[in-house]
Formats: sequence, C-alpha cells, structure tokens
Amino acid sequence: MADVPIEDKQMLVKDASPDELVIETEKDARINLTAVYRLLAYYGLDDTIFTHASARVPGENAFLLNPFGYLFDEITPDSLVKIEYDKHINPDGTTKANAAGYVIHAAVLQGLPDVECVIHTHTTAGVAVSSLEDGILPINQFAIEFHDRIGIHEYEGIAFNTDEGPRLQRDLEGKVGLILRNHGLLTVGASIPAAFYLTYYLEQACRVQMAALASGRQIRWPAPEVIEAAPGQFTSSREPRKAGVRMWPAMLRKLDSIDPNWRKG
Ligand SMILES: [Zn+2]
Repeated sequence: MADVPIEDKQMLVKDASPDELVIETEKDARINLTAVYRLLAYYGLDDTIFTHASARVPGENAFLLNPFGYLFDEITPDSLVKIEYDKHINPDGTTKANAAGYVIHAAVLQGLPDVECVIHTHTTAGVAVSSLEDGILPINQFAIEFHDRIGIHEYEGIAFNTDEGPRLQRDLEGKVGLILRNHGLLTVGASIPAAFYLTYYLEQACRVQMAALASGRQIRWPAPEVIEAAPGQFTSSREPRKAGVRMWPAMLRKLDSIDPNWRKG
C-alpha cells in the first residue's frame, strides 16, 4: 500500500477544539502556563521548586514565570509572576522570580521573536544525556523527530549572569531546543502547547536512550538514510516550533480529571 499523504493522516485524528487553543489574553496565558507546570509535575518532569517555564504576556513587553518556592502542582493561574524585561529587581534589591530563571527566559524570549513559551527541565534522563559527549543519539523514533533540531549550550555554572543570554540565543538559532551541557534540557515553542509537546517528547527520547545504553547490549542503529529522511515524516518538520498543538486539549482534559479546580485562583 502506498504511503498515505501526511495531510490525509491528520484527517484521521479528531480535530482539536479551537476554543482550547486560543491564547490571546494574559488570562489565557496564565491558564495554559499553569497547565504546563501541572503537567510537568504529573509526568515527573519537575525538580521540586527548581527549573522553570515561561510564556509571553500577549500584547505586553512582559512574561510569566513561576513563583519561586512553589511546587509545580501548587501553581495556579493567579500565582504566576509577571515580569517586565527591565524591571525584574524589586526596590529592596530582591528579584521577582528565580534569578537564573529570569536570565534564561528573558534572554530567549527577547532574542527569539517567534517563541512564545520556553520550558527548562532537570530530569534524570535529560541531565544524563546532557552529561554524555554524544548528546542525543538518533537510535529511536522519539529521538529521530529531533534529529538536527536540538542545539548544544555549554555549561557555564548556574545562569546568574545576563552575559550568557546572547550565547543561549546563538545556540538556539534554527532549533527547537537545547541540551544544556551537564545541566538539563530546554525547549522553545511558538505556542505554549508546542513547547510542552517538545519537552514531553524530548524527554521520552532521553529516557529511551538512557534505558538502551544502560542495558549494556549492542545498540542497533537505523540506516543512515532513514535517520536523514524520517524527521521529515513528522508534522513538526514543517514548522518545528509549532509542533504538537493537537495534543493539548487532551492534556487539559487530563488535568481536569485530576483536579477540576486547577484553572481557578
Ligand atoms: Zn536549570
């Protein structure tokens, strides 16, 4: 049987409700970014109170970040901190959010105008892969989606210095994410749902890779021509930073089933 064209394959999947995907107001951004935090916690991609995800405030020169000190499943729409790029220091010298979070997210959002959401994780598998000389190996289908789409950013210590910003922007050029060497992962999406999709599946690639390496058995590599061609089969190949939006309504339903009140407060 001949290949079904990609567009026809998409017709087989129930269309997402457009209402779930509109992110036009600050409230929309707060609800959807809260969903990101809750989902990161649900899938075990959080790191107690550390790491961070950000989203632009539509129409404003500001972004939302987690209130430092909250577990990710404690975060609510109203608890997210709104930060203007040049006003992240309070009059008393304290910062409005995690300092490293500000440095990383402000740099990426200011440097990459098509990016709406940035997610950074410290998962065991992500940090493990970031500690390997090889980085992500195209030895499984999860990883192949990201072949040539993930940059590398060298470790410079905890990101307290805004000087690191231009290097983060440079390393993300044309990519959907970064391996932060010896540190973790970072993804950038043209929407909040896209960034979550990229984080979820980049994590899957890392988990499978580490499991395969840990087996100690010989790795079976796909043929080189398949590694080169297969990334083009993913819908994400057309506009990589817009990947995965179709998954988002299902993710919101998952949160509703866990806690019907997660959008409130
Ligand atoms: Zn970090």
